[in-house]
This record gives sequence, structure tokens and C-alpha cells, in this order.
Amino acid sequence: MKRLVFPLIFILCCLVSAHRVQASDKVVIVIDPGHGGTGDDDTENGAVYKNGLAEKDIDLITSMAMKQELLEYNNVEVYLTRDDDIKLSLADRVNYASLMGADVMISCHYNASADHLFYGSEIFTSAFGTCYMTGNALGQCIMKRWTDYGLVEKGVKVRIGKNGDDYYGVIRRGREIGLPVIIIEHGYLDNHFDFVRLGTEADWETMGRLDAAGIADYYGLSKDSVLENVLPSFYAVEPEGHAEPDVTEPEDVTLKITDLDIETSEISYEIKATDPDGRLMYYGLALGEPVEIPPGDYADLMLWEPGKNVMTGTFTVPTGYKGKVTARVYNIYELYSDSLSVDVDMQELIDERDRLLEKEAAKEAEEARKKAEAEAEKKRIASEKAKEREQVGDFSILLGGRGGKDGKVSETKKRKRVTALVTVFIILSVVLLCVVIYALRKRIIRYIRDREGF
Ligand SMILES: [Zn+2]
Repeated sequence: MKRLVFPLIFILCCLVSAHRVQASDKVVIVIDPGHGGTGDDDTENGAVYKNGLAEKDIDLITSMAMKQELLEYNNVEVYLTRDDDIKLSLADRVNYASLMGADVMISCHYNASADHLFYGSEIFTSAFGTCYMTGNALGQCIMKRWTDYGLVEKGVKVRIGKNGDDYYGVIRRGREIGLPVIIIEHGYLDNHFDFVRLGTEADWETMGRLDAAGIADYYGLSKDSVLENVLPSFYAVEPEGHAEPDVTEPEDVTLKITDLDIETSEISYEIKATDPDGRLMYYGLALGEPVEIPPGDYADLMLWEPGKNVMTGTFTVPTGYKGKVTARVYNIYELYSDSLSVDVDMQELIDERDRLLEKEAAKEAEEARKKAEAEAEKKRIASEKAKEREQVGDFSILLGGRGGKDGKVSETKKRKRVTALVTVFIILSVVLLCVVIYALRKRIIRYIRDREGF
């Protein structure tokens, strides 16, 4: 869609009668570093970040880098509303720009949010007439430089106050005198997503150079050649009445849990949402019912992909979590809607898994017991057979056999065989002696009688 918008705007620009920049051969840019002064309220310091880092100082660094870079181009004159830490009213800033004959005033800022949830780069412009046309087209050029660099786009937007006029003072005052003023919010330095890209002085200077490049894109400025006439590259279409901000929350936000993983303690989800008059920006999940969830629980908001109405992903819950989970979806105006909360019971799944594991373990133990029993029985039978074989072996020795079935005879068995043979031999010798004595008994008696002289 965005690809179509740019050429379309460009064609419209060509059709619209060529609006000429006030200065015939130069464009006058007034850069307004936000805030400034020595008080301690938001007006003077702007946002205050970690380690007491004040937005006003960062705004000035970026603004000075922007001025320096712009001066590299031809056909441009650049002024700063302040180049020091001084207090200026909003009217002072716009009046100074007017005095310098500004074609446009760029009010330079960095952002912060109450709960440090948001990140992304946004630009505000007047919602009315030519101030909108210039502001929006210039804003798109700067935004393109930012997104090409890797920043997250949060939109080129308008904001209307309660009285129906532009919400921001510098923009409102600019419109009163016909001067387009844009507020460029480079990013949220209180949020780590933006801080990693915008956290150092080198980053703040880089941003100034990107801003300058975006401004040069819009006016078609060149560093090499001098233009005879400076004309904006394109305009946005003039709104009927005024450009409308999105004032309604996202609609039809639903959360569906598609899977639970008890190993990683992650739930897989599907979130649906629409925003008929705006663009969805972030989404997040948190534990509990919508009414009881503090905004901080939605830390690490994820980006809603432009053009999509379903986002899927995983969300980590505490181990064994049993309770509600809710999804929240924001649009680029930070308006949000919550889904109905959904029940999640990780504990039940864990219990079920444990019951299954226990059952399996019992089955395995029973199998092991049976196996051990079978082994023992096998051993018992084997040992009985061995004893039988031994007895047979002893008997076979007596019969002249060789004993064991493999023909090998152990030392014990050998000893037993020798003992048996000796015993048989002794018995046989005694029997033989007895038989001999019995057979020769008469001769023996006679011999004894002869010897003794009977
Ligand atoms: Zn600011």
C-alpha cells in the first residue's frame, strides 16, 4: 500500500499547480531543539532518562547535527531556535521561525512513555490545509530515511485537541501564521528496543543527518548542483475539513491458545484484531484478567505486522501455571483493547504426564522383576543339571569313562577319581588276600604246627 501512496502523492503534486517555496532560490529551515532551560519540569527538560540524561540535551545534539548536514546542501538557509540550554515558550519558537522567514519549522524531540512500554518513531503535523499537506509529505520523507535506517515506524500523524484545533502548541501556533510545523519524535529512549539503536551521542548525530537527508529529499536539494527554483518534490492530498486522527480502540480482539508445551512452559497463541480507521501497532500477552493486569506486565510489546489481522507466536508462563491469560492490542495512537481472558492449566498437563511416567515406570519394574525371576530359575535348573552331570561323571570314571561332556576333567574331579580308584584297589586287594588266605588255610595251619613241634 505504502508503495502506491508515494507515486500517487507524487503524481498529485505534479497536477496541483506548482506551489513555489517562498524564497526563490533557497528554502529556509528553522530547527527547534525541544525544551531547554534550567527548571525541572517536563516543559524544560522534556523526558529524563537513565543516569539523569535529559531529552533537551539530546534534542540539541541532533538539531545541531541536522543543521550542519543541511548546510552541506545548496539552496538552503538554516536557523536554530536555540543553540544553548535556554528556556523558550512555544510561541517564542514559532515567532522566531516566522521572523527568519521559515518555510517550515522542524521541532526535534525524543520520546518516553509512562510505563516504558512503547517504542518506534513518529511525526506529528497539523491536521489542516496546506500545513497538513507540507507537514505530511515532509514527514513521510523523513520517516522513509528513518525506516531505511532500521527504526520502527509509528506513523506520520495528526492529533486534535478538545477544542477541535491542532493538539500541539507549536503546530497550532504555526498554523495560525501559515507556517507548517512538524514535531519529529525520533524514538523512545526509555525503552530498550529503541535504546539499542538510539542510545549514544553518535546515534543522536546520525539521526540529525538522517533528518537533514529527509528534508533534502522533500525539497529536492543537492550537495553538488544549485537549483534555480526550489520546489517541494510532492504534497499530500489536502484533507476535507481536517485529517482525522484515529480516536477509536482496536476492535474484535480475540485470543486463542493453540498449544501448550510443558517442557518449555510456553503457550502457542493466535491473536485476531482489526482497526477499521487506523493501523494496529503493538500487541502483548499477560497473566490474569484484564482488570487486574498492571500495564507494566505488557512489557516487551511485539510489533503488529501492517496489513495483518492475525498474529501468532509463543508466550512463556511460569512452570505449572494455572490461571488466565489475556491479550492486549494497541493502535498507533496507543489506544488499546483487551481480549477476553483464556484459561490455561499447565499443572493438569504436568500431572497427567507424571501419572503416565509413573505407570510406565511401574510397568518397567514389573518386567524387570519377571526377568530377574526367570534368570534365577534358569540358573537353578542349570546348576541342578551340572550336579547331575558331575554324578554321572564320577560313575563313568569308575567305569573308565572320561567324565565331563567335553572330555575335560577338573582338578577336584581328578582327585576324586584317584581316591575312588585307590579305594577300589584296596578293597580288591583285601578281598584277594582273604581268598588266598582261605584257600591256603590248611597249609598254613600245618606249617605253623610243624614249626612249633606239635
Ligand atoms: Zn520532547
